[in-house]
Amino acid sequence: MLAPVLLAASRSARMRKIVAAAPVTRPVVDRFVAGERLDDAIDVVRELDARGLTVTLDHLGEDVTDPSEALRARDAYLRLAEALHGESLGARAEMSVKLSAFGQALAGGHDIALAHITPVVEAAAEANTTVTLDMEDHTTVDSTLAILDVLRDRFPQTGAVVQSYLFRTEEDCRALATAGSRVRLVKGAYKEPATVAFQDKRDVDRAYVRCLKILMAGGGYPMVGSHDPRMIAIAQDLARRFGRKAGEYEFQMLYGIREAEQERLVAAGQRVRVYVPYGTDWYGYFMRRLAERPANLAFFVRSLAGR
Ligand code: FAD
Repeated sequence: MLAPVLLAASRSARMRKIVAAAPVTRPVVDRFVAGERLDDAIDVVRELDARGLTVTLDHLGEDVTDPSEALRARDAYLRLAEALHGESLGARAEMSVKLSAFGQALAGGHDIALAHITPVVEAAAEANTTVTLDMEDHTTVDSTLAILDVLRDRFPQTGAVVQSYLFRTEEDCRALATAGSRVRLVKGAYKEPATVAFQDKRDVDRAYVRCLKILMAGGGYPMVGSHDPRMIAIAQDLARRFGRKAGEYEFQMLYGIREAEQERLVAAGQRVRVYVPYGTDWYGYFMRRLAERPANLAFFVRSLAGR
């Protein structure tokens, strides 16, 4: 019941101020965010690497309304690519980008986002790594997939994300499940209307399994983005059924969530990638994590009450 309220709040400037000002917020945010600085993120990459985990790094930020913020987002990713290059971490850490941070919602935003993401993808290739385009609300899907298409002409390893809650996604999976294509499948984290998305969790889960089947049967590289034990077990079954060995697909989970499960999968020989957000603009990301799981919200409320 609370999830829609939290997801609406995740886009409210007023709530952003209130939540950010609450003194207890920071320790809770720290569970999900690697730190504010690039150095914090690089330290976390090293720690996770030492435990056999690979990483995708997200410089926090989204929904920019000012062209100068979009440029700042691009520059933050260029610095990240440079750091990965300098530290020779490109084989262990890739980058996840939200195109709304690169100006996708501005007037002429499609072209602005494409212009800003292109040098980042080039810098990633120089650093021996790649970029995955996160998927945001349904109004952005066509633009994001079109930008992906352009980027893949020169950089076929650029990753896509698809969300099983959208009715369109099975069709998108069929189009994307081709040789060399890296596709992260998630359930979806935004508040979407019944005209475009399943509203019942069971329907979202069933769609997730159908999409997994398409991706595992196809020629691409499936990236199973979920903490759900059922989805993880089904992914392993499907991988076996379609003759995929460990390393011919991967699991992805968010930083700070189900760490024991991440390590269990690594110990079982699976490839696991942790999505590591860093930076100061954590509000939207944090609110989506609270919306996903009552236990996360309860932890936050207990911290408030404990003061
Ligand atoms: P849920 O349906 O939330 O939970 C199912 C079950 O999983 C739970 O019942 C529980 O058993 C287990 N579980 C879930 N969370 C926890 C926890 N914290 N602790 C213990 N058990 C837990 N969404 C987008 O819209 N766009 C993106 O680009 C995007 N990128 C993502 C990248 C990664 C790597 C991941 C993991 C998620 C991403 N998401 C993205 C978020 C995603 O859409 C879901 O909102 C989120 O992953 C929650 O769905 P779930 O499949 O993990 O399981």
